[in-house]
Amino acid sequence: MINFKELAATYKTPLYVYDLDYMSAQYEELKSAFKGRKSIMAFAIKSNSNLSVIKHFATLGSGADCVSIGEVYRAVLAGVPNYKIIFSGVGKSDDEITQAIKLDILYINVESEAELGRVELIAKELGAKCRISIRVNPNIDPQTHPYISTGLHDNKFGVEIDTAKRMYIKANNSEYLDPVGIHFHIGSQLTELKPIYESAEIVADLVRSLQNIKIELKFFDIGGGLGVKYKDETTITPYDYAQAILSTLKGLDLTVICEPGRFLTANGGYFLTKVLYEKRNGDKRFVVVDGGMNDLLRPSLYKAYHKIEAITESLTKLSEADVVGPVCESGDFFAKGYLLPTLEHNDLLVIHSAGAYGFGMGSNYNTRGRSAEVAIKGKEVKLIRKREEFEDLIALEKEYLDN
Ligand SMILES: *Cc1c(COP(=O)(O)O)cnc(C)c1O
Repeated sequence: MINFKELAATYKTPLYVYDLDYMSAQYEELKSAFKGRKSIMAFAIKSNSNLSVIKHFATLGSGADCVSIGEVYRAVLAGVPNYKIIFSGVGKSDDEITQAIKLDILYINVESEAELGRVELIAKELGAKCRISIRVNPNIDPQTHPYISTGLHDNKFGVEIDTAKRMYIKANNSEYLDPVGIHFHIGSQLTELKPIYESAEIVADLVRSLQNIKIELKFFDIGGGLGVKYKDETTITPYDYAQAILSTLKGLDLTVICEPGRFLTANGGYFLTKVLYEKRNGDKRFVVVDGGMNDLLRPSLYKAYHKIEAITESLTKLSEADVVGPVCESGDFFAKGYLLPTLEHNDLLVIHSAGAYGFGMGSNYNTRGRSAEVAIKGKEVKLIRKREEFEDLIALEKEYLDN
């Protein structure tokens, strides 16, 4: 049991708390689901990009899936070997491509014909041969929230099968490109196995048709997206997930690359916030807390549900309340109509499932410094990011005041 009260007293609130032992267990469960097949788990850094968290996964043998050159540098700094780093994303700049090639990472996931052209040109200028993978959009509805659905032609991600084939032929004929992998990632928080299986089948068929024209790939990159339980969702087990994918790869000698983010981190993280006040507007009850949408955006952005645990001496009956932050937006809430006892000033709320897409989506809106982050491993608790102070927030502006 994590002593949230003590953590809040020591590190103050708002505060992110990560349980690294939980994250290890998730990693090992997923990794072992693919046993019998060569595989690399490439932690999707955008889900939780704290250097100490990345380092923790690197120590377990994890690679890294990055969606900006900044994330690539985070991975390198945290000790992920370059040959386990993947660079994905629909809009890479020339500068990002240049740096990724120079770092000799495992491969760049290419998402359009135009991008392939840029990568080839830049590799040529650098006198390099760049390993690439192509992100295929299998046009399968992943049945998740539209903002985190990526595998439909309506979404901006990846290329159609026919386009992909054309791109592989072009890459294979280029002196500066080395097509080594194929990639798909149809969405996040996936709780249905069928769309994943169908996508893998489509992509595996493409691998076979490429083999027929003597284009041999090495990596089958299945993306991330494995869903987790926030409330009462039924989720896919890593075992079933792996079996479904592996069943599409019969006769293919490919290393599976998996890019889990949320599955590894979501339920290993907690956001701690203190009650400032209770207030009523007519019949409506509000609990105003010291954390806001700038700290944890998911409820505002996706109407996401997060379990809230109140740590209080209060023994009153539960009644419905909106839990809201101090930010000047009506969209600044953590829950609506949530059953809570009457709360006192300084009572603590623990917001669960905050380890993925929590801190990283944070901002300084309303000139609010971002929270501190701490990590727990065994009996040890460690600060892994200092709370931002006012001086940090103005550091890049201050010098221009007098101009
Ligand atoms: C976001 C993302 C992931 C991770 O998604 P999760 O749902 O957190 O597992 C993996 N691969 C790519 C390309 C992504 O964009």
